[in-house]
Amino acid sequence: MPDGAVETSTEASPAAAGPVEAEWAAAVAAVRSVPADGRVLLICHVNPDGDALGSMLGFGLALRRLGVRRLQATFPGPPEVPDTLRGLPGEELLVPAAEAYPDPDLVVCFDAASESRLGELVDRLATAGTALVLDHHASNTRFGAVNLVDPCAAATSVVVDELLTRLGVPLDAGIAECLYVALTTDTGSFRFEATTPAVHHLAARLLATGIRPGDISRRIFDTRPFGAVRLFGEVLGRARLEPAAAGGRGLVWTYATLDDLARHGQRPYVLEALIDSVRCTAEADVSCVVKQTSPDEWAVSLRSKGAVDVSRVAVALGGGGHRFAAGFTGRGGAEQVVDAIRDQLDAALIDVRR
Ligand code: AMP
Ligand code: MN
Ligand code: MN
Repeated sequence: MPDGAVETSTEASPAAAGPVEAEWAAAVAAVRSVPADGRVLLICHVNPDGDALGSMLGFGLALRRLGVRRLQATFPGPPEVPDTLRGLPGEELLVPAAEAYPDPDLVVCFDAASESRLGELVDRLATAGTALVLDHHASNTRFGAVNLVDPCAAATSVVVDELLTRLGVPLDAGIAECLYVALTTDTGSFRFEATTPAVHHLAARLLATGIRPGDISRRIFDTRPFGAVRLFGEVLGRARLEPAAAGGRGLVWTYATLDDLARHGQRPYVLEALIDSVRCTAEADVSCVVKQTSPDEWAVSLRSKGAVDVSRVAVALGGGGHRFAAGFTGRGGAEQVVDAIRDQLDAALIDVRR
């Protein structure tokens, strides 16, 4: 599901400029030095979205073209791929986390800003021969031995594409479909600020392989079960608007419980698309969806149209993300979670005079 508006941080940091030549060279060397019978494990972040899964499987297909035979792709938590992301090329590389190589020669992590996003698979960073990190979060903690982190990249797939070029792997339709899903997911189908000329150039190269953008977009963004349509209606019907929040910029929020999901016979991942309907609200800069994951726990999605750095809110509450699209795990009741967010909004207002 969409990462939301990807925006680079204004703060100067070593990662702000993207990988340096030595880092690209080290990544190429790490891939090329996998022995002929070596095992490679690809890991993307928990609750994978289109960028996480697409970047990982696209890279997996490329490794196969390079002759890597012992190759697995996985993610922490239940081995459940959202319906909208099923059928991607390279899907056959996926294994449940419990079956992942315990000590691969190379581990490659995708779209994960920190080790915590790797869940129970985090130990592979220590047991693997080498750990390579591919990501585009400004907050990335550089937890690999080699880190390709480009906060200016619209999606992790942009980093993957550059690495494939340097490895000499040409795009084919399978790789391209995966990278296209990733790119469209994180740019909101080329609507967010991160949609640079370079993004359109990459999209053009991907489309030139013959992939079908209409079919792909319909499957990823415009398909959901009727039960989910009804569930969305109910959850949107209880949305609340607080015009005074965030220094008068406004907050709109809603919540969905496990009981809501059960009544409509829906899986939790269908709620990932809900934030896109909530963030349309004209009267609010900040939007929020609080999704129950266990009796006392909520997965929180935050978005801003530009007045608030929601990654600051998320980080203050134990999570992370991008400037205008972030999230964290909330505890207690839904109202309590929103109280905690409201308290952080003023401190996260972006000073336009800067
Ligand atoms: P989502 O609202 O789930 O689409 O997430 C938006 C952004 O926030 C993504 O870029 C994630 O990397 C980040 N994010 C979401 N949940 C968490 C979390 N629990 N911890 C750290 N980052 C998160
Ligand atoms: Mn992601
Ligand atoms: Mn991403």
